[in-house]
Amino acid sequence: MKLIRNFCIIAHIDHGKSTLADRLIQACGGVTQRDFHDQMLDSMDIERERGITIKSNTVTLEYTAKDGNLYQLNLIDTPGHVDFSHEVRRSLMACEGALMVVDASQGVEAQTVANLFLAMEYDLELLPVINKIDLPAANVDRVREEIDADLGLDPFAAIPVSAKTGQGIEDVLEGIVHHLPPPTGDESAPVKALVFDAFFDKYRGVILQVRVMEGTLKPRDTIHFMHSDRDFTIDELGYNQFKLNPKKKLSAGEVGYIVAGVKSVQDIEIGDTITILDRPADAPIPGYQPAKQVVFSSVYPMSTDEYQDLTKALEKLAINDAALTYEKDSSAALGFGFRCGFLGLLHLDVIQERLQREFDIGLVISAPSVKYQLMLKNGETLEVDNPSYWPDPSTIDSASEPYIRAQILTPEEYVGPVMELCREHRSESQTMNYLSAGRVEVVSEMPLGEVLFDFYGKLKMITRGYGSFDYEPVEYRKTDIVKVDILVNKEPIDALAYLVHRDKSRARALHYCEQLAEEIPRHQFKIPIQGAIGGTIIARATIAPYRKDVTAKLYGGDVTRKKKLLEKQKKGKAKMKQFGSVNIPQKAFVSVLRAD
Ligand code: GDP
Ligand code: MG
Repeated sequence: MKLIRNFCIIAHIDHGKSTLADRLIQACGGVTQRDFHDQMLDSMDIERERGITIKSNTVTLEYTAKDGNLYQLNLIDTPGHVDFSHEVRRSLMACEGALMVVDASQGVEAQTVANLFLAMEYDLELLPVINKIDLPAANVDRVREEIDADLGLDPFAAIPVSAKTGQGIEDVLEGIVHHLPPPTGDESAPVKALVFDAFFDKYRGVILQVRVMEGTLKPRDTIHFMHSDRDFTIDELGYNQFKLNPKKKLSAGEVGYIVAGVKSVQDIEIGDTITILDRPADAPIPGYQPAKQVVFSSVYPMSTDEYQDLTKALEKLAINDAALTYEKDSSAALGFGFRCGFLGLLHLDVIQERLQREFDIGLVISAPSVKYQLMLKNGETLEVDNPSYWPDPSTIDSASEPYIRAQILTPEEYVGPVMELCREHRSESQTMNYLSAGRVEVVSEMPLGEVLFDFYGKLKMITRGYGSFDYEPVEYRKTDIVKVDILVNKEPIDALAYLVHRDKSRARALHYCEQLAEEIPRHQFKIPIQGAIGGTIIARATIAPYRKDVTAKLYGGDVTRKKKLLEKQKKGKAKMKQFGSVNIPQKAFVSVLRAD
């Protein structure tokens, strides 16, 4: 056990976590040169394209240190985005130490600070790494000062590296071995193993990723999941070394995989504690939190005959994504679909993109919503995330919505606009914190629902890309939420209804109306488009009737052209939905519902 190191890499997005992981793997000969492709650990296409890590992967490396000992290094990859902070927590629980990567040209960012606090919560030993020293804009001395002033870590312990050129990589490996502590635990105690991740394999079923805290696991042991109260028998266990490498046992302190006949990740709970049925531990590992969906949205196939495909695709995605929830939903406007729950906006984005790309399904996605808590006048409470289930306003006593503490790091010159942006998004308080030279931390408590709409994009714009953002949930607070209906020719279109704070209701309704007016073709008659709260109209736009016949100006001269035009019109009709007497093209929904 003295020769084991369990660690993860934490960093702000883009600071080089994946590149550094690749370099460490290469330096330890974890994979042959021929098999090596950049960003080994970022396995999904979308991750590679966007350069973010969504699904974490773990690898066991062997390193012969300068002291002559052969060390087993377990690199536990953590997702790098706020939506997945509970996954980060689970990964941290499996480690004794962490490399804290800071980009030498960018310095400390919001996520770096947020991750530092998390790592400290789990008592991890931290080793700062200053990356990208090959860049002309690198300023190692300034970053050392920030590591001291902003993070409170020893600036002299920081290791300067270039994950790109490989400079300093050996120093990092020596740092891991000498500065990060080995695990502790009793190999003969009753088993406690943390399931910190799981993924689905077509041939083997679910592959559990575990960190054994106490005791020893062996093939054919019957294991018991302490939270979900389910039993399975271990078929195989071993180390993750880019292929599954079977072993005879996994003991306290070790990290590895287990195959145990689990069919879907939805059958188990990640974060659960495994023990052995015959000789169980008395209590699970503390700190368990189930994944929590905070953003909800309805997903409909663009054409109704794709509903079966959508069902199958969601089933497939859920097998591998324990945090995705979905249930049947239907809309008069868009037919059958699913109400899905996501960990956050990025999670929604990723699922949406995978459905469209991997499964080739055209989608209409309703406006994302948070979950509101309602106190009704009859004393009952109700949780609502779907506008279709919003009760009659006269029955509501009070409503509350989830708040977050947002942490924004920005260069000093943009502080004014950043505070203004927060206030526009109903921030209730902003505090400022001057960090090292020219950089300010703005901490703002605001509704989660407000960052769902056009917040991050605007933040990036007003800070010229330098602003960074992270958040944590705080609590539910009283609020004045209303349901806004969108009516086309006096008919409410259910898929376009949304829940919003009263102060924000009008602006968005106007945006929807104007967008629809642009997307819906003219008819023989005038079409009013309205936004309404109950019976009160708060926004409107109008589509004027046809002035001329589309083909009139062709005088019947060019017959083929006329035919083509009529055919085009017919095709357009096929993709239309009939609402009363109005035809709405499907793509109108897509463009109206686009977040910004
Ligand atoms: P992550 O988001 O923290 O995983 O960051 P990545 O490893 O994906 O790196 C982000 C970008 O920085 C990529 O374009 C990398 O090629 C680049 N990068 C990473 N390390 C270095 C380095 O040491 N030097 C330079 N010049 N670029 C680097
Ligand atoms: Mg990455």
